[in-house]
Parts: sequence; C-alpha cells; structure tokens
Amino acid sequence: PPLEYELMRRHIKRDLDELWWFLRDNLEGVVRKPETPAELQTHLKGFVEDIQHREQAMQVALMNLAQVDGFEQWRKNEAKSLSDLVQKRIYTLQNPSDCQSAKKLLCSLNKGCGFGCQVHHAIYCFIVAYGTERMLVLKSKGWKYNKAGFEELYMPLSETCPKPSLEGKRSWPGTPDRLVVELGIVDSVNPRPEFLPPSIPKDLSERIILLHGDPIVWWVSQFLKYMLRPQRDLQQTLDESVESQGFSSPMVGIHVRRTDKVGTEAAFHGVDEYMKHVKEYFQLQEVRQGRPIVTKSVYVASDDPKVLAECQKNYPDFTFHGNPDIAKSAAVSSRYNKDSLKGIIIDIHLLAQADYLVCTFSSQVCRIAYEILQERFTDGADRFKSLDDIWYYGGQSEHQQIAIMDHTPKNRQEIELKKGDVIGVAGNHWNGFNKGRNHRTNRVGLYPSYKTKENIKIVDFPSYPHVEL
Ligand code: GDP
Repeated sequence: PPLEYELMRRHIKRDLDELWWFLRDNLEGVVRKPETPAELQTHLKGFVEDIQHREQAMQVALMNLAQVDGFEQWRKNEAKSLSDLVQKRIYTLQNPSDCQSAKKLLCSLNKGCGFGCQVHHAIYCFIVAYGTERMLVLKSKGWKYNKAGFEELYMPLSETCPKPSLEGKRSWPGTPDRLVVELGIVDSVNPRPEFLPPSIPKDLSERIILLHGDPIVWWVSQFLKYMLRPQRDLQQTLDESVESQGFSSPMVGIHVRRTDKVGTEAAFHGVDEYMKHVKEYFQLQEVRQGRPIVTKSVYVASDDPKVLAECQKNYPDFTFHGNPDIAKSAAVSSRYNKDSLKGIIIDIHLLAQADYLVCTFSSQVCRIAYEILQERFTDGADRFKSLDDIWYYGGQSEHQQIAIMDHTPKNRQEIELKKGDVIGVAGNHWNGFNKGRNHRTNRVGLYPSYKTKENIKIVDFPSYPHVEL
C-alpha cells in the first residue's frame, strides 16, 4: 500500500482512541464530581464543540484516505464506464431497429401529484421497461404542467421509434409476447414487478456496490440521466440560471418545503434547523482546507417566497442565492402551468449543482435533486442531510438491513437484535438509532444503526449482452 495510506490509517485509529479517552474522561469526571447546573451547562457546551472538532478532523482524514489509497483514478474511470454502459443499454432499448415489432411499455405522465412525483412515476416505468426489455413509451400530451407534453422540454425517449402504434395494448402484466403493455401507477400495480426499487440488477451489482455508497440511488440516477436530457432551449435556460447566480465553491443547496406539505405529509421545519447543518458543512470544509471559507454560498429553493428573505436577515455570514419569482410561482394555486414548471426545473437543477444538500427527503423535489446530483460525483451518497426521512423511492419494496451484532434493548422503545436478523427499515432518528421492524420477532422499535448493515436487494434483470461499450 502507499505509505501515505498506511500513515493516514494509523492516524485515524489514533484519533479514534483519543476521542474515546476524551469522551470517557469528561463524562466520568462529571459523574465523579457533580457540577452545579450552570457549571455543567458551560462544560457541556465547550465539550460538544470539542467533540465536533475532533469528529470533523477524523472526517477529513477519512476523505484524505480516499485521496491517497491509489484508487481515485480508478473510481473516476469506473464511474464513467459503468454509467456509459447503462446509458448505452437504455439507448439501445429505446431505439429498436424495427419500431413496429419492438415490445413496448406504455406509461402516462398524468399521476395526480407534483413534478417530482410525476417524474418518479415515469422513472419507475422506465426501470420496469428495462427489466422487461420493453421500450418505454411515455404519453405526455395534455400533461397538466405543460399541455404540449414532456418533449417540448426534454429530448424524446426514442429517435427511431418516436410515435409507435399502441394498438392492442393490454394492462400490466400482459403476456410476454404482447406488443404493448400499459403500466399504471406504482401505488396499485398488481402483480408488483420484482424490479421495483430498491432492487438493483444482478449482472451489474458487484460493480455498483463497489462504486457507490447507496447502490439504488446510483441505479435510479442512471434513468434520470437518460430521461431528463434537456432540449436546446431548456439547456440554455438552465445554463443561464447557473451563471446568473454566480455561486462560489463550495455551495450548499437547501430545499424548504412548505405550503400544502406541512401538516399533511411532513412537519414544519424552521430555517434554523436547516442552517445548523449548513454551518456544520462549511465548518467541515474549513477544517479540510485549513483556512476560512470567505464566501459561503447557499442556494435556497422553496415553495414559500418568505424563506429566502428570512435566511438573508438572520444569517448575514452566508451568501444566499435564490429566485423569489420562482418561489412565488410555486404556490399551490398557480402550480400546474408552464411558468411554475420552468421554476421547479430550474430549482431542481440548481439544487443538483450543490456540493451538499440540506432538506427533507419526505419531499420528492429534494430526492430528485439528490439523485441528479449523483451524476457530478463518483460517489455522492453522503452529500446530504435530511431533516426527516432517509432516502426512499415511493412505492418501493421494503428497505432492509441485517443485524451484524446482537442488541439487548435498554428501554421500552428499543428492540432486540440477534446477529443475522432481517430488519425492515422505517427511518433514521439521526441520533444513532434507526427505527424498524425485526422480521424474526415482528417487533417495531429503535435499534443502534451501527449494529446493522444494508441488505441490498439483488434481482435478475436482463443483461443486454448485445450491448457493448
Ligand atoms: P413533494 O410534494 O414535495 O413530494 O414534491 P412534488 O414535486 O411531487 O410536488 C411538489 C410541487 O410543489 C413541485 O413539483 C413544485 O411544483 C412545487 N414546489 C415544491 N417545492 C418547490 C421549490 O422549492 N421550488 C419550486 N419552484 N417549486 C416547488
């Protein structure tokens, strides 16, 4: 191994030891020698800051480890070559030499929900199309965001077969020899295709798992990469939107979802909650760079036009960017028209230019931005902080983990784990604990996240042997 790698590895081990001794000494000190409440408060405040700095130093050392391990160029090459392969497979699927005889999967862009949700609907269709080796036909005339359809903004999904005949279509699952099968929304699909997220294809699974920290996110991102190829006008609009913001690097994107979501599908989160993580991100970068970051660029996307001004007023140390007109067009009452469509596309694009996202993954807007952001990094799995849900795909099959250690519950909220138990994951409480259901005991509750690993769902997809790079 490279010398720097071995040195860095020992360095991290030392820092971890030191962190533990520091924690134990302080906490045992408090137990041994009780402090007054005021003393304790001061002590803990300084203590938390010190722990954070030690933790950040270790994070930086870990990032450096990846720089010196000798595999960085390999990661770059592999990210490109794997993506190129999948893109070529999708392209081949979508461009049959004989349009007439090609099998098709038909989906409509008419799910009764917002842009993010509708795109996710189309992407679920795309994944099933890939899994069943049918070219995806996306019906989007009369789309509520843009009556002229999807293709006024994005490139058609097929060049060789742009307007196929849909005669004799049958509903999902149809039969293998049926030319056209129509797939409905995931919420009521029956039978449920085994290709649904979080499944990844077996023939590529080793490569995807080796490359990316969250394989299903990478897999989904590949379909977005193909589907959301902007037409020339839209590309120009997006380029101009980036240019006019004049971001400095690094840039953090925050998405503050309000209006109809609050109190129905998600809780209200104040600007301070987002900014706590934005501050932490910039602090980490300062430790990494060993110097202050003078301009701390933050892009603010929201459906609440007041958020940007609130950020600017309360956090003068940051340079906020945003589009107040876009936020206004995002209001529920005016949401489903061409203007607001352009607004949400720009917002998602700008969020996806960030180095880090702070948002609520209960919103499909931020989940899409995070998925698209993956295209810019070899492994962008940890470039986010969600204030609520972990990443998920609407309608997905169960997300599972496997216990790698036993766990004895310490209170009524916690559940027991035995090594090898399968857990259906409900979420992360972002305090060291996940919530989930243990399949063996059928109990639902909290368990320490570190006692588990992901149980990645690997499924046989077609392997497109005729497509080569
Ligand atoms: P979700 O409801 O947050 O899961 O996401 P959807 O995309 O399905 O629906 C929300 C819709 O609200 C979006 O598609 C937009 O039309 C609008 N919206 C929500 N947040 C924003 C935002 O930050 N910017 C803009 N421009 N529109 C937003």
